Amino acid sequence: MREVDTLVIGSGFGGLSAALTLSEQGVDVLLVEGLKYPGGCASTFTKQGYAFEAGATLFSGFGPGQLMRGWIERYKLDVQVQMLDPIVELRAPGFYLAIPAQRAELVSRLAALSGDKAQGVRDFFEEQRRVADSLWALFDDPAMLPPFGLKQALAHAARSPRYLPLLRLIGRPLQAALERHGVHEVRALRTYLDAVCQITVQAPASQAEAPFAMGAMDYYFRGTGHIQGGIGQLAWGLVSAIEQCGGEVRMSTRAKSLRRHDGMWRAELRGETVQARRVVANLLPQAVMAMTETQTPELLALAERVEQGWGAVMLYLAIDGEALARQHPYHLELVQDPDQPYVDGNHLFCSIGGAGEDPSGQRTVTVSTHVALAPLQTMSKDEQEQRISAIQAKMEQGLKALAPELVTHRVATFPASPRTWERFTRRPGGFVGGIPRTAGLHNYQGMIPSPFLPELYMVGDTVFPGQSTLATALGGVKLGTWLSS
Ligand SMILES: Cc1cc2nc3c(=O)[nH]c(=O)nc-3n(C[C@H](O)[C@H](O)[C@H](O)COP(=O)(O)OP(=O)(O)OC[C@H]3O[C@@H](n4cnc5c(N)ncnc54)[C@H](O)[C@@H]3O)c2cc1C
Repeated sequence: MREVDTLVIGSGFGGLSAALTLSEQGVDVLLVEGLKYPGGCASTFTKQGYAFEAGATLFSGFGPGQLMRGWIERYKLDVQVQMLDPIVELRAPGFYLAIPAQRAELVSRLAALSGDKAQGVRDFFEEQRRVADSLWALFDDPAMLPPFGLKQALAHAARSPRYLPLLRLIGRPLQAALERHGVHEVRALRTYLDAVCQITVQAPASQAEAPFAMGAMDYYFRGTGHIQGGIGQLAWGLVSAIEQCGGEVRMSTRAKSLRRHDGMWRAELRGETVQARRVVANLLPQAVMAMTETQTPELLALAERVEQGWGAVMLYLAIDGEALARQHPYHLELVQDPDQPYVDGNHLFCSIGGAGEDPSGQRTVTVSTHVALAPLQTMSKDEQEQRISAIQAKMEQGLKALAPELVTHRVATFPASPRTWERFTRRPGGFVGGIPRTAGLHNYQGMIPSPFLPELYMVGDTVFPGQSTLATALGGVKLGTWLSS
């Protein structure tokens, strides 16, 4: 029987970064991935000759000294990052906002749209800047995230005045900060915030927890870009980095079950049993419980919070390679009715690949919207299909109205639903995007890595620090460092 020190299950960005960090420390690591390509929700897959981004399309952490750039440089990865400006164009009926790469410029643009509330908008962003600066200092150096040693504790103590702006916000909704500045009804700001909060912290501005939301609002300005050829390039790059460090990575190798035997984990893989001292599961808690046939109060509580989250409905489009005026990749955020929830096809995130990037010669586009899964799960199979078709029809309507260039020149469409996500990424129920960061102190649970079962740890977007490729990667680095220290 093959024996390893640490078995990592799943090559999402959480699993990849944990496996890399452990391999860097000389730990004997085997990473297994059920699909034939790495990255999970942040992967690039091919269909009928087109290469599509599966889900995530906009990536952060590529600035000087930041995590992703550090890996690309250290392991000489063949990954080209294109910085974008604007980062995203926000379009709604009668409303257009190009979100620039500089926060100050965004604040000027939003203030100009806010009439007599312009100063309130500036003051709100000044508070947001202070919060984001203190939080991103932790993201830029995972050693500063808990648990930390004496050196980091002293650094935190020296920085403590910078954390003061956080104190009155922790656990509170972003709405409270907006009201304090008298800008909660400024329409342009609301549209911007509801859109950015839904795609980052997975909740509208009225419900989002203020520090998480204010930190996530800076996502656009922290070394954010597009990966030439797709995020799969980076995921494959990390596979090669793990191998360079002596770790082993196996694609098309699903872990079917995990059992405890004599103080070790035994994993049934395709045609093979592997024994490991420790397991790092890049899985949802539901999958951990199913695989181990074990339920604990902690896993059940986490699963319940996952089930308050979202699924994704997708349209993958191919567009005539010659037709679009713009040659570079770009992102659109479309809101059909800013007064309705930013889900169910009312709000679309569209990412358009660059000219010449796709091997087919066409331009590929990934379009996504959130769907609440709890109500969907109470429906029959037929009703679910009808609901998903209705959402896809609404997505088409939004594209026609707000991004007609993506419709007129389309040559192919491939729809996908939460079932597709479940089938490919094996996230039970098709829950994606992590736990919504709504107001409350629960967001700060799990800051110190601890096992969910003996010698079984979790990484990925359901555990701290949460969703996004960068956050899951930081979580993996943190866990890997903690386990090998
Ligand atoms: C539509 C959409 C758009 C998004 N947009 C962005 C964005 O623009 N920017 C951003 O930063 N983030 C974005 N996100 C969020 C981001 O993609 C995720 O938070 C992050 O990628 C999740 O990573 P993870 O480590 O939790 O693992 P996952 O991505 O869930 O990966 C888990 C991996 O484990 C594998 N696996 C599962 N079960 C097994 C098993 N039994 N054996 C072996 N392997 C197994 C799966 O195949 C998968 O590859 C988006 C997400 C979605 C769904």
